[in-house]
Amino acid sequence: MLAELKGLNEECGVFGVWGHEQAAQMTYYALQSLQHRGQEGAGIAATDGENLTFSKGEGLVTEVFTQEMLSELKGHGAIGHVRYATAGGGGYENVQPLVFRSQSGTLTLAHNGNLVNANQLKHQLERQGSILQTTSDTEVLAHLIKRSGYASLEERVKNALTMLKGAYAFVIMTETELMVALDPHGLRPLTLAKVGDGYAVASETCAFDIIGAEVIRSVEPGELLIINDEGIRSERFSYATNRAICSMEYIYFSRPDSDIDGINIHSARKRLGKQLANEFPIEADVVTGVPDSSISAAIGYAEEASIPYEMGLIKNRYIGRTFIQPSQELREQGVKMKLSPVRGVVEGKRVVMVDDSIVRGTTSRRIVKMLKEAGATEVHVVISSPPIKNPCFYGIDTSSHEELIASKHSVEEIRQQIGADTLSFLSVEGLVKAVGREDEGENRGHCLACFTGKYPTEIYPDTLHPYEKELAH
Ligand code: SF4
Repeated sequence: MLAELKGLNEECGVFGVWGHEQAAQMTYYALQSLQHRGQEGAGIAATDGENLTFSKGEGLVTEVFTQEMLSELKGHGAIGHVRYATAGGGGYENVQPLVFRSQSGTLTLAHNGNLVNANQLKHQLERQGSILQTTSDTEVLAHLIKRSGYASLEERVKNALTMLKGAYAFVIMTETELMVALDPHGLRPLTLAKVGDGYAVASETCAFDIIGAEVIRSVEPGELLIINDEGIRSERFSYATNRAICSMEYIYFSRPDSDIDGINIHSARKRLGKQLANEFPIEADVVTGVPDSSISAAIGYAEEASIPYEMGLIKNRYIGRTFIQPSQELREQGVKMKLSPVRGVVEGKRVVMVDDSIVRGTTSRRIVKMLKEAGATEVHVVISSPPIKNPCFYGIDTSSHEELIASKHSVEEIRQQIGADTLSFLSVEGLVKAVGREDEGENRGHCLACFTGKYPTEIYPDTLHPYEKELAH
C-alpha cells in the first residue's frame, strides 16, 4: 500500500559502516535502499579517524547529496539515516545524524524507533541544565551519555542506554569507533554484516545487497556492538531480552527483499496470504493486491485458493510524494492519482482485493469504488493483518485511537463504510503462525500491540496523544 496515504509511516532507517575506504559513498547507496523507511530527510556523517564531517538535508537521499558533498565526507567509518518526521516534528535541525562537538571529541548518532520516556528524560535533563537543540528524542541519548559519570565512553553509553524505554536501534559514532545498540525488546530490526574487511549494520538487509555486504546475524536485543580498527566486540547493556519485533515490519514496512531474523519478507507475506485464504475462502474470479506491499500476500492468497492472481491495480510511480498534501480531501485525490484499476482485468469479475492493513479506511473506500467503477461485479477485501485497534508508541505514526477506524467500528461497520461486498481480517494467531518466527527457536516473539493492546513496555502518560489523555480521564 502507499505508505504516505495509508497513515502508517515508519520513522526512519539507520546504517553504519566501519573499515571501508569509501564509507560515505557506501552509506549513500545503502540509504537509497532504505528510502522507503523515510523520505523527509537524510544525512551521513563520516570519520577518517581524526576528523568527523557530516552532511544532511531535507528530502530524498538523491535530492540531499551531490557527488561533491559525498567526496568531502572522507574516511573509513560512516553512519547514515533516512527520516520520516513525526516524533519531534520536521525541520532541518531534526534531520539525523545529530552531531555534538565538545572538548573531548565529537559524538554523532542516528536512531530508528521512538522512546516512550523521552519527555520525562527531557524534563530531567533540562532541570539539570542541558539545553536541547532539537525536538527529536534522539538527542536525549547524547545528553545522557555526556552527563554519565563513567570514565570510558563505552560505560557512559551503556549507562545511558539503560535509562531509555521504548524502541530504538542506534548507530553512534566518534572519530575512532562505531557503536550499535538495539533496545532490550528488539522492537525494530537491525542486522550486522561483513563488507570487505569491515562491518556494516542496517535497519534492513536490502541495504547490504546493493553494497555487496554479507549478513552475519541480527543484532541482539540489549546488545551493544563496538566496532573500531581493532575489530568488533559484543557487549550487553541489558539482559532483559523479551523479544518483541514489530510485526508490522513483516506485514507492511520492510522491503520484500529484506530478511528479518533469517525470515524473508516476501515469503512471510505470501504465507500471510495463504493463511488468509484458509481462514476466509471466497468464491471469486481473480485475486489482486494493492501495490506494492500487498502483492506478495495477494500472490499467496491466489496460490492457496487456486484463483488466478492478476494485476488489477497499477501504481503510477512518478507522481509527486503526496505526504506534502496534508488534508484528507487532498489525500483522497492522491489515491486517485497514484492508483489506477486495470479495466480489462476486473471488468465483469468477482475480485478478491488483498491489502495489508486498514488504518483510516478512506484509502480502502476509494480503491473499492475505483474497482467497481472499472466494472468489478463484486469486491471482497481481505486484509493480511488483524484490525489495527491501538496506537503505536514505538516509531509508527498512529499515535491516537481517533485515527484508527477499527478502534471505533466493528468489521461489519467498516465493510459498509468502505463499500466492499465482504471484508475479512487475518487472525492474530494466523499472523503469528504465518510469519513463522516461533518455528525458529526461542525468544522470537512479536510486538502485536496495535492489534491486541498489550504493549511490551510501559507507556508513560505524556507519551499519549491529547485524545488518548482525554480517554484516560
Ligand atoms: S504497536 Fe504495532 S506498529 Fe508499533 S511496534 Fe508494535 S506491532 Fe509494530
